[in-house]
Amino acid sequence: MKPAPFAYLRPSTLEEALAALAGEQGAKVLAGGQSLVPLLSMRLAAPSMLVDINALPGLGDVTCDASVAGGGGVRVGALARHADVLASAEAAEVQPLVAMALSHVAHPTIRNRGTTVGSLVHADAAAEMPMVLRLLEGSVDVASVRGRRTIPAAELFAGPLESTLAHDEIAVEAFFPSLPDGAGVAFQEIARRHGDYALVGVAAVVETEGDDVTRARLGFVSVSDVPVVVDVSDSLDDPAGRALAELDPADDIHATAAYRAHLVKVLVPKVLAAATDHARRRKNP
Ligand code: FAD
Repeated sequence: MKPAPFAYLRPSTLEEALAALAGEQGAKVLAGGQSLVPLLSMRLAAPSMLVDINALPGLGDVTCDASVAGGGGVRVGALARHADVLASAEAAEVQPLVAMALSHVAHPTIRNRGTTVGSLVHADAAAEMPMVLRLLEGSVDVASVRGRRTIPAAELFAGPLESTLAHDEIAVEAFFPSLPDGAGVAFQEIARRHGDYALVGVAAVVETEGDDVTRARLGFVSVSDVPVVVDVSDSLDDPAGRALAELDPADDIHATAAYRAHLVKVLVPKVLAAATDHARRRKNP
């Protein structure tokens, strides 16, 4: 099938792009195209105009600031490809969960073109990076003709494949906070083949004091309609049971709800143990 007809604009300034979006209710942003183009081809989306942001200047950077107290972290511009973020040794040092999860996003060819910010805005609960942003309590900066605002991750995901960006807003940057001292992270997923969307993915962030885990939070991929985070600090004797009380796995063509619940039970203890080990190794390299 071929896409329905649409107008195409490739502006060279952010102002021009924002004006085009504001002037055309049915316009959509085109970034890496790795999600949008298949949707167009299947006619699951039929925008009247595509505003291609790939020629906009200054949006391709990955910048890192290791300080925790000063609000440091990894800043990812809207045109930074998954592969650019994954290639940044500094980003992997400042917030290791970003690289841990990105290595499971699709295949190299898709990571070479798809953008991390585009994945966040696309808001797929089967995608790794929306969950990572939510778990790390990051944010996205967006621009429109009305100005700029920062959307905390807790307010970014409205529903299945639905973010809280207005139709005329462009996400210009995502922010993943740095990993504090004494904390550790881990990510594991089960997919039919490496690079496929996960049947279930689980990430953990733990904080430790000495050998004790003082705080533990889990993020889940592919077990609900939106990225879900569960604090299991008070349930370390049965963290998977605690998580499943808040999750709502569903049947689909890839797996049954019961199988997804089983994978949660298998992955949660492994990921918590790996994150705790990561925290220890950071303390005693
Ligand atoms: P696009 O496809 O260009 O856009 C996606 C949506 O976001 C559109 O609605 C668009 O309007 C909007 N958008 C994009 N950027 C902005 C912006 N800056 N401001 C406002 N709106 C914006 N992803 C995973 O997470 N895990 C996987 O395992 C995985 N496997 C894949 C396998 C295949 C075969 C394919 C084709 C894709 C896969 N993906 C996977 C998706 C991939 O990660 C996409 O790159 C990503 O979801 C979207 O990024 P993009 O830059 O391509 O966005």
